[in-house]
Amino acid sequence: MTPQPVPLTLPTSDWEEWLAQRCDGLLDEARGLVDTLKEGGRDASGVMALWNDLNLALHDTFASASLFSNVHPDEAVRTRGEKAEQDAHRLLTEIGLDRDLYDVLASVEPGDLDEGGRRVHSLTLRDFRRAGVDQPEEVRERLRVLAERETEVGQEFSKNIRDGVRSIRVEPAVLDGLPADFVEAHAPGEDGLVEITTDYPDYLPFATFCRDRDARAALMREYLDRAWPENETLLHTLLTLRREHARVLGYDGWPAYDAEVKMIGKGSAIPEFVDRITEASDAAARRDFDVLLARLREDHPELATVDNVDKLFYQEVLRRERFDVDAQQVRAYFDFSKVRAGLLSVTARLFGVEYVEVPDPSWHDDVATYDVLREGERIGRIRLDLHPRKGKYGHAAQFDLTPGIAGRQLAEGVLVCNFSKQLMEHDHVVTLFHEFGHLLHHVLASGHPWVRFSGVATEWDFVEAPSQMLEEWAWDADVLQTFATNADGEPIPRELVEKMRAAKDFGKGLYARTQMFYAALSYVLHQDVPDDITATMRELQARYDVFGYVPDTHFYAAFGHLEGYGSGYYTYMWSLVIAKDLFSAFDRDDLFAPEVAHRYRDRVLARGGSRDAADLVEDFLGRPYGFDSFQAWLDRV
Ligand SMILES: [Zn+2]
Repeated sequence: MTPQPVPLTLPTSDWEEWLAQRCDGLLDEARGLVDTLKEGGRDASGVMALWNDLNLALHDTFASASLFSNVHPDEAVRTRGEKAEQDAHRLLTEIGLDRDLYDVLASVEPGDLDEGGRRVHSLTLRDFRRAGVDQPEEVRERLRVLAERETEVGQEFSKNIRDGVRSIRVEPAVLDGLPADFVEAHAPGEDGLVEITTDYPDYLPFATFCRDRDARAALMREYLDRAWPENETLLHTLLTLRREHARVLGYDGWPAYDAEVKMIGKGSAIPEFVDRITEASDAAARRDFDVLLARLREDHPELATVDNVDKLFYQEVLRRERFDVDAQQVRAYFDFSKVRAGLLSVTARLFGVEYVEVPDPSWHDDVATYDVLREGERIGRIRLDLHPRKGKYGHAAQFDLTPGIAGRQLAEGVLVCNFSKQLMEHDHVVTLFHEFGHLLHHVLASGHPWVRFSGVATEWDFVEAPSQMLEEWAWDADVLQTFATNADGEPIPRELVEKMRAAKDFGKGLYARTQMFYAALSYVLHQDVPDDITATMRELQARYDVFGYVPDTHFYAAFGHLEGYGSGYYTYMWSLVIAKDLFSAFDRDDLFAPEVAHRYRDRVLARGGSRDAADLVEDFLGRPYGFDSFQAWLDRV
């Protein structure tokens, strides 16, 4: 067995210089490889080996640049990372439209390559064609203009959402029902009124807990109209640009172009999927909607339906009244250091790996570093950066440090989250399991020679499935009892976990229907590019959502996913359908059963992007993936 490569040595001082040297050096190496490739005179496997080196240099650059621009405590280092990211993007665009480079790769005879090489080659030519490299010069020029305009308009659309914060002013008595820390943070101004904004830290608690229906309605109208009307025109422009972009390349519209590289394959399969989920969730949605409406009408007999003004508020009322889950009681069982230790021991047991803490210095004292061993051999290194600090990325995500390449480069990844150092919300425990799923995928899929296959290199609409599945372990009483103990050392009671699960299950059909409204909107807007976006939205909401439209509002203007996800909002639910199916292979009464977990590790995770996701899933399940498990989950009361 060839010895595994050693981890990257991180600096102990002068990070800015280190990051600049690393990224500039890698980008120079990549440019040199482009020139070498264009010199020609190499056989098929020689060309593909250099192409792999080039992509590895780019991947390494993007990984370091993106990680340190998001986590480094020193602002100068973060800024240097952003610059490196921009440089790498520029080179990537240049490569994508480099006709001479494309000709070198297109002249490779696939029959002269091994199986992996053939797959990388065919994916590479597809990416080049999608970039438009083989189009006549005037088309390539138009594509450059379109891409630039799309970026500009997209950035402005997102900026208007970020800047489009609105507010209402209410009497202090309106805060009745809100948590004490919220009331404390919202003192009345000189006019004696309290300002409530549409930002999440204000909007979410207010919509969930405020007992004054008129005040909830006033805030909801402002919330649903963020970035309107300015984003209505911008959105229409963006949709028109994307349609032209796709048509110039010979596609029928943006969804067809976008779906081509996803598991779903065809744009036209998106509305079929949306309709299928809508039908599958119909009974569950009706069941829960009736409960919600009945509870609403106890307070407001005059109302005929539930809309966004009442949705969050009455869901919370039901959580308290029907499921009796006390968040304060729950968090007493989730002490951060026990949770972290528990997560490591659960996943070690499940996937047959071992974590050994190493004293390697990182960019901050909060970061814990571990080597990941399999059968005694180091297969990767992970770093857990799990607490908030100033200037750090504010959400939860897995970042690459280096992709693993067999015999050449160790897989290194980082989990970046913002959890408390003391007691955690159970939601955060679920998030930790979810993100750790991405990290394990990154480390386990490191045995390939091709960077194209390394780590989470699978289709975008499959990426979330392994992580969504790992969330199930954070909802299992047997699993939780291995580490979730209170200050007296008592494990979390089984009955409490059951109540938590019941509360979580309520509303899953409603959730599915609302998600399908969003998915239909993202598809139809891109496919039809309608002149009257509001009318289209109202029509789709009436067809797919069970919650009513709030009159004269324009939710799409602040629907940021239209920028980032394009026509692909369906992907989250698509992954969830597959996650439920993958989970069906496990024994619910024994989530640690090793045989199935190891089969899953070897047939799905370890294979990375070396095969299509549908094939990996079929190989693991012994049949193609289907909807039955998802349906059973929806129907389970
Ligand atoms: Zn995820």
